[in-house]
Amino acid sequence: MITKIMSIGLKGLEGYCVQVEVQAVDMGEGFTIVGLPDASIKESKERVKATLYSQGCPLIGKRIVVNLSPSEQKKNGPLFDLPIAIGILKSLRMIGESIPNSTGFIGALSLDGSILPFEGMLAAALAAKKIGFNRLYMPFNPDLPEIIINEVEIIFVSSLRDVLQHLSGKTVPELYLAKKLTEEIYYEKDFQQIIGHSVAKRALEIAAAGEHHVFMIGPPGCGKSMLAEAFPSILPPLSYEEKLEKISLYQLAGMDYEVIHQPPFRAPHHSASTISIIGGGQHPKPGEISLAHRGVLFLDEMAEFSKKTLDMLRQPIETGKITISRVRSIVTYPSSFLLIGAMNPCPCGYLGSESYYCTCTRRQIQSYKNRISGPIRDRFDISLILQRVNLVNSDELQKESSAEIRQRVDKARDFQYKRYGYEMCNGKATYELLLNKGGFQDNVISLLQKTAMQQNWSNRVQLKILRLARTISDLDGEVYVTDDALREAMLLCGEQKSV
Ligand SMILES: [Zn+2]
Repeated sequence: MITKIMSIGLKGLEGYCVQVEVQAVDMGEGFTIVGLPDASIKESKERVKATLYSQGCPLIGKRIVVNLSPSEQKKNGPLFDLPIAIGILKSLRMIGESIPNSTGFIGALSLDGSILPFEGMLAAALAAKKIGFNRLYMPFNPDLPEIIINEVEIIFVSSLRDVLQHLSGKTVPELYLAKKLTEEIYYEKDFQQIIGHSVAKRALEIAAAGEHHVFMIGPPGCGKSMLAEAFPSILPPLSYEEKLEKISLYQLAGMDYEVIHQPPFRAPHHSASTISIIGGGQHPKPGEISLAHRGVLFLDEMAEFSKKTLDMLRQPIETGKITISRVRSIVTYPSSFLLIGAMNPCPCGYLGSESYYCTCTRRQIQSYKNRISGPIRDRFDISLILQRVNLVNSDELQKESSAEIRQRVDKARDFQYKRYGYEMCNGKATYELLLNKGGFQDNVISLLQKTAMQQNWSNRVQLKILRLARTISDLDGEVYVTDDALREAMLLCGEQKSV
């Protein structure tokens, strides 16, 4: 008898429906799995055989053929153990009940019949709804937070016996995930702790409001890292779906997720390999750019990163995702992050300093700056030049907390979402969209054109200014972009030469 059991395969973070076809006959002996299985699936044979043996179902004198379809997609991971075992039992008529196509099974098997969690489990579960399942049997992992997927009944199982009992309508011990996804927000670094840097704080508020990438230049120890680390605290918190997406990505990368409710902050070292930053590898895994999805990617000492790594950032910055091509499969991971790049003004770090002499030659400085190519520099809407803050003379009276700034950011985001009709920020808006919907009146446009002529600004620079000016006006709650907003945007983009 041939049976069909439904399961879920993973292509990056994206799940798709896999049909596990099993034929078990009494003639001959053997166990074959076809349908582009990888090594871990080929080993399924041994695990499934041993499990069924321990459950009192030896496969002696049986010939088993398993076909995983769609057959053109390479499949990986041990998650098909459970559907294969169920398929064999059904094919041998050891499960009498019919199993509808809207029921899915995922899980790795241990030799004693336990069902074990696997990397990417949550991503697979999240795909269940899209595929059209209304029931999913999956392994229990007490480390996962509570998962609620509308319209999908999730049944956590810890052994094959549990699955069989549940299928036959008997009760099984119900397993619940205790960890709740809370709304509570806690940030380690708060803007209130940062002394001085009022210009940088304002620029970061604008960056958070409109999703603008930020480039910071300043001497060592001037506070670049501190500002970047505090930045997630002024970003809007993650929604429920975004939190689950974040945990899925971390789980897929085989990493512990720390704090789930706040946007991620990733700061890979410049010596990290391209694969670890971009993602990929023999068994593709998300890289730092995907772990930073919906949060911040901070590249300190940006000039020290390899040219290859920096160039590969261009695709995710444009599209919000990264596609990695493997033999017979293409894996895509989400990677929509806000990039903060930082570097010293010169190799020694003291160019422009009031208290130290720079010892670099002009040539050294130029070649240092050239390490970041034009196309990458173009991606930064905001360029900041930072100086060290004199802690004693800092004249700030009252420092704002991140929560206060975040409120303004949230409001400015609402304005943008309403204007564009979906969740898009000004940092991603095109030239045409800004001119059509951005509320730019003729006087503002002619001021920009006049200055652009004087400054010899490219279209790219003008686009940055339009985007920034729109965000500044959104923070002010203005329907039309003001002259003042435009002037501030011109300063922020860092392209202004004194004439
Ligand atoms: Zn120097």
